[in-house]
Order: sequence, then C-alpha cells, then structure tokens
Amino acid sequence: MPNIKLITFDLDDTFWDISPVIIKAEMATRSYLESHIGKQDWGSMSDFLSYRKELIKEDPSYEWDIGALRKKIYENKIKKANLSHSEQQKLVKRCYKMFLKLRHEVGFYDGVYEAIEELSKNYSLGVLTNGNADIFSFEIGKFFDFSISSYDVQSNKPKKDHFVMSKNKYKNLEFDQIIHIGDHPVNDVYGSHVLGINAIWFNKNNDGWDNHDIEKPIQFNSWKSIVKLISDNYER
Ligand SMILES: [Mg+2]
Repeated sequence: MPNIKLITFDLDDTFWDISPVIIKAEMATRSYLESHIGKQDWGSMSDFLSYRKELIKEDPSYEWDIGALRKKIYENKIKKANLSHSEQQKLVKRCYKMFLKLRHEVGFYDGVYEAIEELSKNYSLGVLTNGNADIFSFEIGKFFDFSISSYDVQSNKPKKDHFVMSKNKYKNLEFDQIIHIGDHPVNDVYGSHVLGINAIWFNKNNDGWDNHDIEKPIQFNSWKSIVKLISDNYER
C-alpha cells in the first residue's frame, strides 16, 4: 500500500453548506444594485441559471472564471441604467466585492477545524475548488500549503487539471500517494479516482452511491470521524 503524503479537499458543501450562503449573498447584492439603478427583473432561479448558461455559450471562459461571469451579469444590468461608463465600472466592482465578502460568511461543519489541524501534523494539505472561496481568508487557512481554483487551471473538476497541478507541486509524488476528499460524486470522487488518487466521499446526507462507473468509495458523514477513517484505511 502506498504511503499517503498529500490530502486535498474540496470546499463548498465539503467544509460548509454553500447554498444558503450564496442565496443570501445573491439577494443582498441584488438589493444593493437596485438601490443604485432601480428595481430589476431577475426572473426565477431557473431563468437565472439558463441566463448564465447563455453567457457561457458566448464566452466559454466563464465556465471556469465565475468571477468574470458574475461581473458580466452585473454589467448587463447596469448598462441599461443612466450612468457614465466609469460609474458603471465602479458599481460592478462594488457589487462583486460585496458578493465575494458575503460569499465567505460560511459556517464550517462541526469538527472541520480540529480534523484539519490534526491531519496537518502528518500530511501536506491542499484545496481544490471549482468555486471562488479563498481558504486563506479563514484562520484554518494556516494549515494548508496551497489552494487551486478553477481560475488557476482554467478548467473545472472532474477534469484532471486541478489534480495534476496539485501532484506537480511535489517532487516524485505519485497519484496513489494522494487522498482527495469532497462531496461531489463526479467532480470529486470520480475525477480523482480515475487518475489513481484515493477518493473519499463526504456524504453528509447519507445518499446512495449511484455512480456505477466506479466502485462505492470510502465515505464519511461527520468531520469528527475523518482522522480515524484515514489512519484505519491508509498507510502513512
Ligand atoms: Mg463541493
């Protein structure tokens, strides 16, 4: 059995529940924007998602540059208002800054901090995210050696780029010496497993495993159990 040297982690829905945070950030930013340019029609959530898809079709880089995508959405709203170009640009920037700040107001799941602190004593730790949360903006960031976002690799998990970049940070590290932990059966578990990385599934809601392309992975639903789960299943 290979010795594990590096453990990488997904962020959203792995360290914290993201959807209430995004909804709150989205709503607050919309109100802020409306306080400058008047009431806007945002449509339903599914309208909003299809609008995002349309924009991604026009510019595929939005797929991995979600910050630029978000700014584009604000820009399109703001450009209809009666503001000078520089006022428009400033407002886009302020909206984005506000969103990003609120997007970091997350509540870590119980036990994450303690688990990460403990694991950092024996392994190198890294973050692999498709989102734009910055782990180094939290105290827990001090336990991590690196963080790789979709923007950094111009690609999203389950594609291999995040995983390959993390491996390449260490000399002579092999994929089978890495554990990747995440909530998403495809983006995290499948994406890492197919490269030979040891995938662990954070399965908070005890969902069934229906990704039959690969065997059911090792899983856990409480961060209080992860340190033991790793030492029981892997050599160090
Ligand atoms: Mg996730």
